[in-house]
Amino acid sequence: MADLFGVRTVGTRPERLLQHFAIDGSVPLAKGVVEQSLQYHGEASEYALEGATALACLHQDADTPSSEPAVTIHRYGKGSAVAFAFDLAKSVVLMRQGNPQWQNTEGDTKSGYRPMDLFMRSEGETYFDSKRLTIPQADEKQRFLANLILRLAEKPLPRMWYLPAMHKVVMVNTGDGEANYGPEIAPVLDACASYGGRFSVYLMNWDKARGIDRTSVEEEAAWRAAGHEVGVHVYGGGPDGEGAYDTLREAYAKITADLKGKFAHGARTVRNHTIDWTGWVDMAAIEAEFGTRMDMNYYHYIPCESPIDTRGYFNGTGLPQRFIDARGQMLPIYQTTTQWPDEWFADHKITAEQTVEIITNMFQAARNGFYSAFVNNIHPPRYNAIYAKDPITPVWPHTVWAYCRDQGIPLWSGEMLLDFLEARNRTRLENIAWQTDSEPGAHRLSFDFQAPSAREDLTILIPSGWSGRRLGVLTVDGKAVEVATEVIKGIEYARFTPTAARAQVVADYR
Ligand SMILES: [Zn+2]
Repeated sequence: MADLFGVRTVGTRPERLLQHFAIDGSVPLAKGVVEQSLQYHGEASEYALEGATALACLHQDADTPSSEPAVTIHRYGKGSAVAFAFDLAKSVVLMRQGNPQWQNTEGDTKSGYRPMDLFMRSEGETYFDSKRLTIPQADEKQRFLANLILRLAEKPLPRMWYLPAMHKVVMVNTGDGEANYGPEIAPVLDACASYGGRFSVYLMNWDKARGIDRTSVEEEAAWRAAGHEVGVHVYGGGPDGEGAYDTLREAYAKITADLKGKFAHGARTVRNHTIDWTGWVDMAAIEAEFGTRMDMNYYHYIPCESPIDTRGYFNGTGLPQRFIDARGQMLPIYQTTTQWPDEWFADHKITAEQTVEIITNMFQAARNGFYSAFVNNIHPPRYNAIYAKDPITPVWPHTVWAYCRDQGIPLWSGEMLLDFLEARNRTRLENIAWQTDSEPGAHRLSFDFQAPSAREDLTILIPSGWSGRRLGVLTVDGKAVEVATEVIKGIEYARFTPTAARAQVVADYR
C-alpha cells in the first residue's frame, strides 16, 4: 500500500457528527469543484505522505484545516493511484440518506417518524452543517471523483449529462391530495398546464380522505391524457417504530391495489401522508416492492425562524440516485428530494415574494454549477385557498411557473423525471477506442451510443481538448454534427444529443 499510494497510515479519526475536508483547487487535477470545506461521514484514516501529493486535506472543524491529507495522488508505474482517507461512496450515501443510528427515533420536533428525523435531534444536533446547506455537497464530492477519473484516463472519455438536453435545472411539480378529489384537484393541474407544465398528484384512500374512491375514471383519464401523473399518498395511521413496518406495508399494498383497481395503472412515484417513514430505508424498500420507482419523501422541513436561513440541500443533493440499503445493496427506487414544500414557506409566515426569491436564487445557483432537479409540493387544498393561515400557496406557484416558462426551465411531473432517468441510466457508451495518429496529425476517439429507446434529450459530453489537441470534426453515424462547447466544473466539453437509439460516434482531435 505504501508503495502504490505513497502514504503510510498513522492513525484513525473516529467518526464525529460534523466533520469536514477541503479540496485544494490550486492543484490542477483538483480544480473545478467547490473549495469551501465539505462534510464527510464515517471514520477517516490519518495518512503521512511518503511520496504522494495531497489533493484535499482533512479539517479540524469547518474552518480549520489540518495537516493531514483527505485525498492523495501518487504516480506509480504507468498510472496514478488516488487514495481517499474516508470511504467516499459510504459518505455520499450517509449524507443523502441520513444517520442510520437515528432511525425510528424522534428528532425533528414534530411527532411521527419521517426522513427529517434522520438528520436532526430535538436537542439541536444536526447531521448537516447548517452553514453548508446551500451546497449540494454529496453531488460536489462525486463530481470531484468524476473529474479525477476523466483527467487521469489515458484517453478522452465520453459521459452522459445529468439532466435532459443541456438543462441545468428542472422543476418537478407535485401535490399531496389530502382529502381532495376530482374537481378539487383539477384547478392546480390546469393552472400548471397553462404554463406548459405537468404535475404529479398523490391521492389518498384512507378513512374520509378518499381521493381515489371519489375521483371518477373519466376525470383521472383526462388528467393523464393531459400529461399529468396520478400516484398514491399512503397513510399508515400513525404507529411509529415497532409495528410500523407491517402497518405501512399493508397500507401501501392496499392503496396501490386501490389505484390499480380503479385506474388500471401502478404508482410510479410517491410521497407519503405526514411523510410516514420507517427504518433507515425500509419504507423505500416497501414502495419498491409494490412497483414504485421514485420516492419524494426526503422533505425539506427544518424547524427555523425563517426558511430564508435554512433553505438549500439538507441531504446534500439536487440529483436523484437509487437508494442503498444497510447491506450496501442498491434498491430499484430513486431517492428524489423535495426541496420546496408549500407548508414550509407558509408555516414560517414569509411572503409569496420571499418564497419566489428563495426558489429563483436556487435556480440561479443551479445554473451556475449546482445542477439540480428541484421538487415542490403544492397541496391542492392549499392552492385552492381553503386555509386562512396560508395566503401564499395560491400565489407563488404562478410567479414561479411563469419564470420557468420564460427562462426555458422544464416544468415536469415526477414520472417524466423518472422516465428520463431510467433511459439515461440504461444508456451504454461502449467500445470506447482511442487511436493515435489515425491519420497524419490526428487522433481519433470512437464509441457506440446505445439507448433503450430514441429520445431527444440524452446528451453526451466529450472533452473538447486532449493532450494539446482540439476536437475537430465530430460525426454521428458518419454525418458531421454541430457541437457546442461549455466548461463544466473546470473541464471544457463538447456536447451533442443523438436522436436515434443507437449511433456510432467518431471524434477527431488535431
Ligand atoms: Zn398529506
